[in-house]
Amino acid sequence: MSVIAIDGPSGAGKSSVSKGVAAKAGWGYLDTGALYRGLTWLAQQEGVSTPQEISKLVRDSKLNFNLDPLNPMLVAKDPDDKNKTKDLSEVIREELITNSVSGISAIPQVRAELLTLQRDLIEKSMAEFGGVVVEGRDIGTTVWPDAELKIFLTADVAARAVRRQAQLSELAEVSANSVADSLAKRDSIDSMRAASPLRQSEDQIVLDATYLNLEETIQALWNLIEERKLNG
Ligand code: C5P
Repeated sequence: MSVIAIDGPSGAGKSSVSKGVAAKAGWGYLDTGALYRGLTWLAQQEGVSTPQEISKLVRDSKLNFNLDPLNPMLVAKDPDDKNKTKDLSEVIREELITNSVSGISAIPQVRAELLTLQRDLIEKSMAEFGGVVVEGRDIGTTVWPDAELKIFLTADVAARAVRRQAQLSELAEVSANSVADSLAKRDSIDSMRAASPLRQSEDQIVLDATYLNLEETIQALWNLIEERKLNG
């Protein structure tokens, strides 16, 4: 049973790489950023802003993540009809959410609530798939410090901005400069916060994807998994 923890700054390609590796291994995939984004969306919908109200939302909203790497999906109780669930996978990518998520994720009570949910989902994935690739900012340092493989996936900010711009251009026209500013701002809040900040730790292997394409990055990670005989 393997937990692969992939941490790193925004736009380094963590999602695509993690999904690719999970699919190749037949493991589950957990995008922890989606949970923070979902909570930010729910807080905006409900018009709540205090740490107490937001952490209560984690329990009441029944946030959940479909762990299949071929169909990852964030769902929650539908705020308009409490008997239904709503797929939040698309709305959480909107700019309004991207620009406010780091404020919400810096709140210690919110992190404590989501920590339990993340650990439950990791255990569920190990039981169902025999392994899991988990991406975020504090997986190897806080959420699952005993992960069998801990990666810090990074790339220089210009390369990250170009990739993020390509993803966003399907939704709206954005300049590489404004994307780079937004990434840098989010990284700075995520790294400076007191509660479980984004940081590189000594037991992480740094994978710099500045000059690697997606397939090459997946392969680099796959080589590490095979070297350590973590696959099966
Ligand atoms: O990975 P993604 O960009 O979707 O993450 C959105 C935000 O969620 C991050 O900028 C960060 O503020 C927060 N986050 C976090 N800890 C994690 C994953 C995400 O604080 N493990």
